[in-house]
Formats: sequence, C-alpha cells, structure tokens
Amino acid sequence: MTTKKITKVSGGNNVVQATFVPTAEAKAQAGKFRMYGILLWVLAVVAEVAAMFILFKKDPEIDLSTGNRIVLIAILLVDLILLIAGSWFWKKANRFDPASEKNALKFFMQNQLGVVVAVIAFLPVVILAFIKKEYLVGAIAALFMVGGGLAGADFDPPSVEEYSKQSTFVKELMGSDHVYWTKSGTKYHLYSDCQYLKSDRTTEIFEGGTVADAYANNSRIKPEMSSLCSACEKRAAKEKGWTDEQLQKAKDSVIKSFLK
Ligand SMILES: [Zn+2]
Repeated sequence: MTTKKITKVSGGNNVVQATFVPTAEAKAQAGKFRMYGILLWVLAVVAEVAAMFILFKKDPEIDLSTGNRIVLIAILLVDLILLIAGSWFWKKANRFDPASEKNALKFFMQNQLGVVVAVIAFLPVVILAFIKKEYLVGAIAALFMVGGGLAGADFDPPSVEEYSKQSTFVKELMGSDHVYWTKSGTKYHLYSDCQYLKSDRTTEIFEGGTVADAYANNSRIKPEMSSLCSACEKRAAKEKGWTDEQLQKAKDSVIKSFLK
C-alpha cells in the first residue's frame, strides 16, 4: 500500500511523496474506538426498540398517561445520548485511520455514518408515534433525530490524501514529519518555540509527533493545508532561503501532486 512517487519541487530536491498509512498503534486505537462506537449505537437502537414497544401497545384513540409519556421521553433521551456518544467515538476513530477520497461512496459512508445511524435510531419511532397519535413524543423524537444527526455528521472529515499531502509538505520544509500542537489549539506547528505556542495558555501541554498524530490527538485541528501555523511555515521557508514565491510554488507543487 506504499505507493511512492518522486515529485520535483522548486528547491530542486526530490520529495518522496508517500501515501499515508496509519501505524499499527493508530489502527488498533481506531479499531477500539470503532468498536465502542458501534456498541453504543447498538444500545441506542435497543433504547429505540424499548420506546417502540411502549408505543406499539398503545391504542391510538387513548392518550398515554403522563407517567408513561415521561418514561417514553426519558427512553428517547437515553437513545439520543447513546447515539451521540457512539458518533463521538466513530469520528475519533476516523482521525486515527481516515478513509481515502478515492472511493467517494466509502469516504462519505465512513465519515457520515453517524447521520445514517441517527435516522435508524429515530425515524421508525417518529413514524410509529405519529401513527399512534402521540404527536408530542413524535415531535420530540424528530427533534432528537435532527440533533443527533448534526452531532454525528463530520463537517471536517479527515482523509488519507489530506494527511499524505500535509505530511509531504512538512517533510519538504523540515526534512521530517515532526510537528507540535496544543490540547485546544487549532493549528499545528513546526517549531516548539513558535511564538503562538508561547502565547498559548501556560497550562496547556504541547506535544510532538507526526501530522497524523496531531489530527488524531486534537480534533479541533481541521484537516486542511491552512492548519499548518503560518508563522512556522514562513520561518521554515526563511531558513531554507526561500522567497514567498518559492514557498507558494513548493506548496502548490505538493498540492498538485496529490490531485486525483
Ligand atoms: Zn507556529
């Protein structure tokens, strides 16, 4: 799976453009998180089935007692919490072991599975509630479906291509894929003494690792080229003796080499 391709860039150096492959540890971590996610999703569906069981027995012409209605809404709330928790683990797993953009359907399904599960975990109960004329419960379940779907969607999905591209660019600038990030910062850095790392709250611990490690450990960093700290980028270019144009050219050339 290590397709290596030599790319000529402005500096005249040959950059080994390697496709990102997660480490065995990252794979194992992703596997564990996916398992937790699926388990929580299954429990969410179990909660849904319990709610449907109450609704199923109900006569459409007779209102539920207040007590039963509260129990039903409480079960739906449990359903929602389990759904969101499952999606959280699922999205975290994708940061460790992202999908490739090469297969558009698989890429979409892997990253947006939380939305699909939100529909599975609520739509049947919404329909049944309306059939049984339990409109308040139906409306709440519909609201939970939308909320759970939004929470489960990944608006910044990670991808093999994005990790590969950024790792290649960091290697091009620094010679190795080693970056720094903080627990809550939204950028990763090339230098541990970057001004932005210094100005960050002192309570924050910053860590070093690959670009992929930064994404796996800080979900606030969006998987895009601009997540590389611009101050660090400029400093690295300066140390290489590059002009702004040469930096831009090097960046463009890396981006271009990863275009499908
Ligand atoms: Zn920086």
